[in-house]
Amino acid sequence: MYEKVFSLIDSRVEQLIADTQELVRTPSINPGQFEKEVAEVFSLQLNRDGLRHEIVGPEPMRSSVLVEMSGDAEGGLLFNGHLDVVPTGDESKWTSPPFAAEVRGGRLYGRGTTDMKGAVCAFKHAMLAVRDAGVPLKKSVWLHAVADEECGGRMGTAWIADNGHLPEADMGIVGECSTYKGEIGIVRACTGIVQLKFESRGKASHAAKPHEGNNAVINMCRVMIALQDKYERDETVYDEMLPPNTISPATTIKGGVKANVIPDYCEAEVDIRVVPNMTSENVRAKIDAIIDDVRKDHPEVNVTYTMGHWDPETLVPADAPVIKEAEKAVERVMGYSPKHMKRSGTTDARFLTARGLPSPVAFGPGDVLIGKMHDVDESVGVQDLVNWSKVYAAMILSVCS
Ligand SMILES: [Zn+2]
Repeated sequence: MYEKVFSLIDSRVEQLIADTQELVRTPSINPGQFEKEVAEVFSLQLNRDGLRHEIVGPEPMRSSVLVEMSGDAEGGLLFNGHLDVVPTGDESKWTSPPFAAEVRGGRLYGRGTTDMKGAVCAFKHAMLAVRDAGVPLKKSVWLHAVADEECGGRMGTAWIADNGHLPEADMGIVGECSTYKGEIGIVRACTGIVQLKFESRGKASHAAKPHEGNNAVINMCRVMIALQDKYERDETVYDEMLPPNTISPATTIKGGVKANVIPDYCEAEVDIRVVPNMTSENVRAKIDAIIDDVRKDHPEVNVTYTMGHWDPETLVPADAPVIKEAEKAVERVMGYSPKHMKRSGTTDARFLTARGLPSPVAFGPGDVLIGKMHDVDESVGVQDLVNWSKVYAAMILSVCS
């Protein structure tokens, strides 16, 4: 059964590449063109392939495509890949135009090849090969080709989850790139994130009479430096693959209008990466204590802050069924057991795991070293795409048939 499915995938490499090229040639920069057009192109492919699907989204330009191959029993496997891409950067620096989707030396080049239209097509070809091999499905397979991953996912995977479109799957796979030096790996943990905006209010005066004013920028700097020096990170090791939590004060800072005016206002941003057991309440308590401490010596400091959206960490334990299934599939296709890898930066997996649908952070085509995601000359290896298509097919066979 496995061999029949794999040989079908091998016989369809040209179609796999052509489908990926067609998606890459339909720009979907976010923000920019967004996903409407590429979703329609993908929908036409699915019609040709005979895969049942619907297009959903919070507004007309923000389309996600939900594909389903139903089994009789409850549960199954959910694939998730995003349709949006990041901007191209300086197009003159690309060896071939970013939306030409040129194949050179066994690699497909273009914006979105590795991040992550290649994965979307690898998922689809895995589903097609299983179906065309005549394998009866007990459980269902879903493919969500989603909007808005690159700008936070709230118009894509989060919206899908919040609007009743998340299936009752046993496990999920987010196909962000996780090939490393040619070897398939698994990223199963990453920190979460919260960002804070700080405001400092002082009093303006002539710079020649500073004692009549209250310098909002200096006050802000006192607080930022105190955060840098005194904020106590959570040192608990929750999982060896989970990066440490961090605080980065003053990633931006703005204040002052003129060299001879004491500034009465300043704002700054702080980036905090979060791990289990951190909550908005305990982070606030630490920050409030540090500001209070600064004010003991400097009562003129008047700094307040607001906390942005709290995105929790993603942490799928090494012995979770989805990790075991992923390992088994890689062993079957590649003959080795995949390494577990660290990654900074979050993916749509956080929305799935937070809703009880464990999904590795990244398990998909594209080499994290040479694939150049978000960079000029982004590319994916043709053989890498084929290997991943087989890995996904092996997962379908093991989980759903
Ligand atoms: Zn991505």
